[in-house]
Amino acid sequence: MLNLDFHPSGHHFLQIPGPSPVPDRILRAISLPTIDHRGPEFGALGLKVLAGIKRIFKTAHPVMIYPSSGTGAWEAALVNLLSPGDHVLMYETGHFAALWARLAGRLGLSTEILGWQGSDADLPNAPGWRHGVAADLIEERLTADKQHRIKAVCVVHNETSTGVTSNIAAVRRAIDAAKHPALLLVDSISGLASADYAHDAWGVDVTISGSQKGLMLPPGLGFNALSPRAIDASKSAKLPKSFWAWDEILETNKTGYFPYTPSTNLLYGLSEALEMIETEGLENIFARHKRWSAGVRGAVDAWGLPVQCADQELHSPILTGVILPAGIDADVLRKLILERFDLSLGAGLGKLKGRTYRIGHLGNSNDLTLLATLAGCEMGMKLAGVNLAGSGVESAMEYFATHPARSLAA
Ligand SMILES: *Cc1c(COP(=O)(O)O)cnc(C)c1O
Repeated sequence: MLNLDFHPSGHHFLQIPGPSPVPDRILRAISLPTIDHRGPEFGALGLKVLAGIKRIFKTAHPVMIYPSSGTGAWEAALVNLLSPGDHVLMYETGHFAALWARLAGRLGLSTEILGWQGSDADLPNAPGWRHGVAADLIEERLTADKQHRIKAVCVVHNETSTGVTSNIAAVRRAIDAAKHPALLLVDSISGLASADYAHDAWGVDVTISGSQKGLMLPPGLGFNALSPRAIDASKSAKLPKSFWAWDEILETNKTGYFPYTPSTNLLYGLSEALEMIETEGLENIFARHKRWSAGVRGAVDAWGLPVQCADQELHSPILTGVILPAGIDADVLRKLILERFDLSLGAGLGKLKGRTYRIGHLGNSNDLTLLATLAGCEMGMKLAGVNLAGSGVESAMEYFATHPARSLAA
């Protein structure tokens, strides 16, 4: 049970792959007084964040900002584009992809789910979900759909339940190769602002995202980045919508305002996050996450444990999933690590429950917070009786020391 009277000394280590730790600078920005969202000052803030967020998605087209979690933004994308009974092709890369498909079904869409069809010879007992989207399966399925019954293809960019990314440009090429008119919807809720993403260049129709991962904000903002084709399709889509409807938002956003009360204080935070991100530079941020990911992956290798992502090329820059030996319950381990070392790790989700835990390495972290995180994992696993081949902490120290990031003095 949560004991609000007990505060451990020092900083809590929130190393789950979202919500990620919120920088003090952003918390301070959020603490400013709430202003009138229809008053004269608000429009300038609205225009600033609406323009800035486009640069993060790498799009020239409008981005919707909802006062919602990522799940709301999933729903927004579907109800604006589709009509009851429409057939959508989804790809099960992990638990989040599966949840999105369930949501689509509950909205009255007909869902068809593709997934990995190979075998994992290296780890035959592993619980699946170790690969990204196989674009050739999508191409094959769309090519067979001569009547163009499939209205949309939905894929997850960074599958947060597994730590596997997917090649979105390859999915676009697959749709084009099949000469199929389906819209492309991509969940980059945990990928945006940590892993490279290019909404326009990759020909995505709607990208869905959220505030509490790479953007380093608290939970509470959801995003839909649109394409001109998506805006067009929304004009004839028949699923019921009102709160999520793009048309009124597009209209009021022109002057920086919203049709209803936006999350004013989170928008202060977004404004601050955009400044931080653009000062560092997106490409530097992507490189920083890749470097962390390599260090953490090396640590898991040194422990002698399998990483959930079976394909090194697709290993997420944002998180690493660790598969535990049979007989070790990941949830019991996480509880022990939280109680002993004040470190929160991501749970195994869905069919990975109890089998894996996830180390978040995104956003407001640095080499030493990650080393401390790995130390917490290593101590916890030893206490839980996991047989480790070697020290992951030493491996990561070596990696970080010999692969310098941009130096503070530079
Ligand atoms: C976090 C996450 C979601 C869910 O977002 P909520 O804000 O919890 O609704 C969906 N998809 C992915 C890939 C995520 O990482």
